[in-house]
Amino acid sequence: MKKLYFLFFLLLSTVMQSQSLLVPDRVFDGEALFTNWIVVVDGNVIAYAGPPDKCPVKIIKDTILLKGMTLMPGIIEGHSHLLLHPYNETSWNDQVLKESSAERAIRGAVYAKKSLLAGITTMRDLGAEGAGYTDVYLKKTIDEGIIPGPRLLVAGPAIVATGAYGPKGFHEGVTVPLGAETVSGIDEAIRTVRRQIGNGSDFIKVYADYRWKTGEPAQPTFLLNELEVMVATAETAGRYVVAHASTPEGIRRAVLAGVETIEHGDFGTLKSFNLMKENNVAFCPTLAAGESVAQYGGWIKGKGPVPNRIIQKKASFKEALQSGVEIIFGGDVGVFSHGENYREMELMIEYGMTPLAVLKSATSINARVFHLDGLGQIKKGFLADVIAVQGNPIDDISAIKSVKFVMKDGEIYVREP
Ligand SMILES: [Zn+2]
Repeated sequence: MKKLYFLFFLLLSTVMQSQSLLVPDRVFDGEALFTNWIVVVDGNVIAYAGPPDKCPVKIIKDTILLKGMTLMPGIIEGHSHLLLHPYNETSWNDQVLKESSAERAIRGAVYAKKSLLAGITTMRDLGAEGAGYTDVYLKKTIDEGIIPGPRLLVAGPAIVATGAYGPKGFHEGVTVPLGAETVSGIDEAIRTVRRQIGNGSDFIKVYADYRWKTGEPAQPTFLLNELEVMVATAETAGRYVVAHASTPEGIRRAVLAGVETIEHGDFGTLKSFNLMKENNVAFCPTLAAGESVAQYGGWIKGKGPVPNRIIQKKASFKEALQSGVEIIFGGDVGVFSHGENYREMELMIEYGMTPLAVLKSATSINARVFHLDGLGQIKKGFLADVIAVQGNPIDDISAIKSVKFVMKDGEIYVREP
């Protein structure tokens, strides 16, 4: 009997210990903003979210007051490269050619932590860019608790058409490591997708277009049937394909082939975005990458004349909004500093979205598009990936920069008064 009591007490105390009560000023649950809400976390799951008087859980040991703060789902970054760092530090070419996979892995571990502390609890990483499957191993070490970082969805090496990717500028007798894996023809396309999935890619990234020569405009790369077999092969294995595509023809082929998201879409037209919407393909605009590259090229935002590329991108993004295509949040972080993911949010607003739409995109919409069940919302039964920011990001998006609380999978990584 004594033993039974002891067991009961032990069980009760573990249950109580693992519960915490979060009391912010307001809650953005992934869909809308609520005041006078509390959130109860039990282990790694959200046990309750709503008004205090309706809360069924009565005794909670750990109360966390988040004064003046907005509690929201952990941010889901939709387009990152943990294995790249800003091109104004080291050019993309030099990163691929001169930094070993070991160096890039160490850097990636630092950037993963930085991202998590900035409120990014999940990240879709869009290609190791010449570092093989280092992203797969980053994910593994994060999952095993060796290093702190967001939950990762990783692509491994992106797939490009033979001859279409860089680094370029060497004569044909020089073999250099490429930023992606090259493929030509149906058989090789099928084999490569299968091998990548076997090696740990969570999804497949293809380049539907690219500049064949440095400095020239992008042109389509793969034939439609090459794209189609890659999608079919991935889907057979329960995976999906996403496409880098900037040109209307690249976008068209990728959408018709059945990819799930289009990345960049810089020269997309209303017709391109309508086609995406009709086919339930989401759009990741990566505005922050475009602005960063323009600034590395000498543009001083707010001072110098606005570069044509930026004018073009703004016009194209307006057409995307007009079409009603699903917009996902992803800045191509790595091109700019890890941990500054908020820059994409600021630009999405500057380019015409409402703060509420941007926050939904970065949480519930990204979760849905990336097939992340149980993430992206503060809702009973969902995983306890939650953050708190000082202020109200719906009134002023810059609040998203002051992350004061980060919980991933029920574990607290940031807790500032
Ligand atoms: Zn990218």
